[in-house]
Amino acid sequence: MYLRCYDEVKGLTKDLVQIPSVVKTSGEAHCAKWIYNYYNELDYFKQNPEHLMLQQTLNDEIERYNTISMVRGTKGSSNRTIILMGHLDTVGVEDFGDMEENAFNSEELMKQLRNLNLGEDVNRDIDSGDYMFGRGALDMKAGVAGQMYIMKYFSQHPDLLDGNLIAIAEADEEDNSHGIISALKILKEWKELYDLEYIAAINADYSTPYHEEDENRYIYFGTIGKLLPSFYVTGKETHVGQAYGGLDPNLIVAELTRNIELNTDLCDESHGEVTIPPISLKQSDLKPGYTVQTALAAYSYYNYFTLTMSPKEVMDKMLDIATLSFDNIVNFTNNSYKTYCEKSGHTYTRLPWVTRVYSWEDFYNELATIHGDRYTVYIRNFALDLHEQNPSMDLREFSMKIIDESWKKWSDDKSPAIIIYFSSLYYASIEISGQDKQEVDLIQSVTKAIHFVQDYTDKPIVKKMFYPYISDSSFMAISDDREGLRALEGNMPAWGTKYNHPIEEIKAINVPVVNIGTYGKDGHKITERVHMKYSFENIPNITFKAIKNLLG
Ligand SMILES: [Zn+2]
Repeated sequence: MYLRCYDEVKGLTKDLVQIPSVVKTSGEAHCAKWIYNYYNELDYFKQNPEHLMLQQTLNDEIERYNTISMVRGTKGSSNRTIILMGHLDTVGVEDFGDMEENAFNSEELMKQLRNLNLGEDVNRDIDSGDYMFGRGALDMKAGVAGQMYIMKYFSQHPDLLDGNLIAIAEADEEDNSHGIISALKILKEWKELYDLEYIAAINADYSTPYHEEDENRYIYFGTIGKLLPSFYVTGKETHVGQAYGGLDPNLIVAELTRNIELNTDLCDESHGEVTIPPISLKQSDLKPGYTVQTALAAYSYYNYFTLTMSPKEVMDKMLDIATLSFDNIVNFTNNSYKTYCEKSGHTYTRLPWVTRVYSWEDFYNELATIHGDRYTVYIRNFALDLHEQNPSMDLREFSMKIIDESWKKWSDDKSPAIIIYFSSLYYASIEISGQDKQEVDLIQSVTKAIHFVQDYTDKPIVKKMFYPYISDSSFMAISDDREGLRALEGNMPAWGTKYNHPIEEIKAINVPVVNIGTYGKDGHKITERVHMKYSFENIPNITFKAIKNLLG
């Protein structure tokens, strides 16, 4: 059976887009409540109110909610359960400038964009009538809408399900994933309460062509992961008049960036897929204002995508690069000094700089060995106070401040050093290799569903093995071994005070993931648009078939 769901999913998408739900605004709560009310109107949830909830996110600095719903099948006695997931928040709309008022109104926005004449591709897509524009249309309200349709369908036909379906419309995907992390708690509770056996998660986040001629649609098993290797660099300050008397941390950071950014040796490769190499997301010194003294310390961090590399492997690579970079700068400053001495007739003596590189774990342990509890208790309280004083402080800044405090107050040896740590949320990569029955079942069920739906579209639907963007799918499974995770915990200064990776909760779910999501172009741009036929009709049908194949 092929569902004729185009009009209904289109209508739902339009409604959802019209509710501005920019991340970290009250719109997230409005949108969650709207979805809650949608389910609440359905007979099934009137009869089973305990299967629907509006869950406020936990440990969050603003008030926002997830909407979580469950349909329990009546076809058999299986407790196998599939999780549908989609985020209800969007990125901001500042980029729309004076078009902001139409950011959520597809028709008006299309007229404005057409007048702006933004290029052939955009004009063609507007004129074709195949696309819906607007913030969140592609990323990913059309995906949430499709899942709402599926939930409604099965709520009316629970007799078709030998097992259960849970749908999570989650807040805060675009920022700090408070939504999905909070939802894990409910998934764990329901698992125990209803004796559920989770077998798969289906995300519906967006997909997009890889290049202009790319006509393929993509279904992704698994997902890419992300780390944020970060570097705290201390030098030795000096007056500009005595340039060789110090070691400039900005120079070391510049060399780190040169060795890390776009370095294809750092790409992760698996199943014939290759990650984009790292890129710098911050590079700054810690000098508060202008003086003619060089900086005392600087820091930088880099986006790092992974497929199968563990946090430990990434840390090992960063230690090597930091050592190389430090060596390069020691040589460079000595060579410069030598040449300067020759030019000016001074006697050259080798500068005192020695390469000194730590992981945060090693640096912390060194201080703990020297100072014992006095240090470990102090720094933990420092972190707790810092968090309490300013709960919304950026996680990157927070992490850096813990290291800065440790260095300034507790390190007796003040010779220049690099300290490497991780300072963002951990997005685990998930590899689906067919190594257990759950993975095999999911791959087969989705593959069959794609074959069926392929007859209803003239564009090839292609399978790939890693969803290529950061998404909440990363919270559905954990594949790192104990050593890999220890490298993460030990090297995150914010661990246990401002940040906790919910390892136990994830282990309670631990399912293979697939992304059966919306298709369109220019996510996060003003020309964001979703392809309607594929996203409103083909995608819900692939999801529907996959569910039936797994729980039919
Ligand atoms: Zn998204």
